Amino acid sequence: MAHIPNPAAACQPLSSLRVDGVAGLARRLECWLLPPRCVLCLAPGSTVRTPLAWQGRAEALLDLCAACHAELPWLSVPATQGPGGVPAGVTLAYAPLRYAWPVAPLVHALKYRGERLYGRLLATTLAEAAGRHRVPLPECWVPVPLHRERERQRGFNQSADLAARLVRETGVPVSPALRRLRNTPAQAGLTAMERRVNLQGAFALDERWRRRVAQRHVALIDDVYTTGSTAAACAAVLRAAGARRVDFWAVARA
Ligand SMILES: [Zn+2]
Repeated sequence: MAHIPNPAAACQPLSSLRVDGVAGLARRLECWLLPPRCVLCLAPGSTVRTPLAWQGRAEALLDLCAACHAELPWLSVPATQGPGGVPAGVTLAYAPLRYAWPVAPLVHALKYRGERLYGRLLATTLAEAAGRHRVPLPECWVPVPLHRERERQRGFNQSADLAARLVRETGVPVSPALRRLRNTPAQAGLTAMERRVNLQGAFALDERWRRRVAQRHVALIDDVYTTGSTAAACAAVLRAAGARRVDFWAVARA
């Protein structure tokens, strides 16, 4: 039974600051030498093993103790389907958690402090929950892209990080078929209508990946599901490229 290796995230409490240089090296050594700890309460050696329902995947190892895992802000209705309940062009929208403590600070640390190990924790939590909720797996993951200028500033795309981890947890490949043409202003604080206008023409198909999405069941991956306007804009491009079905997966719903 192959276990998912335990990421070093267990050694980095949420409150920790990033440390570079000698201090950072010492911190990383400490991570290798000490037993795993719960990311949230720091209880030692208490990472929870959760069964994954995906075929061929025995279980996932989360850097959370059972108590912290149980106390995550789980949504009672994580999946929605049908007109009115999902973004336009999307068949099924799935987000297992509410965008609240401690998920919101984890996402924030991932996006704005570059704590990429939290991306692994969030993606594994997403995969584990989706397995439990029997969400149908797509044929490929399509991360919501950042504009290359923003990705250059941030150094990575958090949605691509989440998708890369989902590949490991589910065996489903990633098809980075979308490009962001415009560096749109931040969506936070905009109304749903303003978000739609903000996103017009913002996404395009990367032609190299057309054959990998045409006639396929694909799932968009994003960190947070807010109004769904980003998902709808991306789904329109994928549908135009011939995608048979477009689902939308996010870690948390705002
Ligand atoms: Zn804990």
